[in-house]
Amino acid sequence: RHAVRPISIPISGAMTGHAAQVSAEPERPSIFYKPQGREVALFEYAFHNRLPVMIKGPTGCGKTRFVRYMAERLERALYTVACHDDLTAADLVGRHLIGTEGTFWSDGPLTRAVREGAVCYLDEVVEARKDTTVVLHPLTDDRRILPLERTGETLQAPPGFMLVVSYNPGYQTLLKGMKPSTRQRFVAVTLGFPAPRLEAAILIGETGIDSAWAEVLVRIAGALRALKDHDLEEGVSTRLLVYAATLIQAGMDPRDACLAALVEPLTDDAETIAALAEVIDATR
Ligand code: ADP
Repeated sequence: RHAVRPISIPISGAMTGHAAQVSAEPERPSIFYKPQGREVALFEYAFHNRLPVMIKGPTGCGKTRFVRYMAERLERALYTVACHDDLTAADLVGRHLIGTEGTFWSDGPLTRAVREGAVCYLDEVVEARKDTTVVLHPLTDDRRILPLERTGETLQAPPGFMLVVSYNPGYQTLLKGMKPSTRQRFVAVTLGFPAPRLEAAILIGETGIDSAWAEVLVRIAGALRALKDHDLEEGVSTRLLVYAATLIQAGMDPRDACLAALVEPLTDDAETIAALAEVIDATR
């Protein structure tokens, strides 16, 4: 039923947004994103074949940036919802509100995305209340419908609508995993910490830091991520490396910048902080 349409994947300069402007073609994305692998093609295939996408990966590894980049590339508006444990189906779908002229219906972000044919991105979807699955399920199978129980409407998602969710497998406990009946409705891709050369390129692209410093920071990240005997919940993220590079670029003492951006956010335990600081001193 879903024919796989061949799509042209721009190469080289087009990926980085620095393509020469020669014709009246739509402008290349201006959002800076360095692909880790073939996730751009996967997302495009999924979009053109109306399949929902799940992006897995640790915090700060580029999931949100990737979705923003893809929405711009596909010329879709983007509705992002940061899910939390109080988020209900009504927060996604909408609710009746009381105004000066009585009650009126107000679309939630998911409904708006369906109406407009936009991308709806649910960040950390497993955090949301269980009742959200009721609205996600009919949208993620071949019906692609969103029933609005409160208004009696049933919306048919147009081709431009796409549902994207992210989740961090590292955070999951037995109690709070994603149920197979939900996760098996998505095509999925994992983003991890970028490979060293790529991560250095990201730091340079994001902050303008010189390549020597970018390499030092990536080396420090590698050493910190390799530390297994301290029970850190998660390794230092690309986001934190960007912070460290930003502080160093701004003229902050590099050691202080590394402590503030790469050590203190990871743990509160004094011993672990001392151990991580040692790693930084030994790696620089
Ligand atoms: P996540 O959504 O996975 O928590 P983000 O997408 O917010 O993480 O990424 C955090 C930051 O790391 C971004 O703001 C950006 O500075 C940087 N970053 C991570 N990966 C990339 C990438 N592949 N290309 C460009 N920037 C990236």
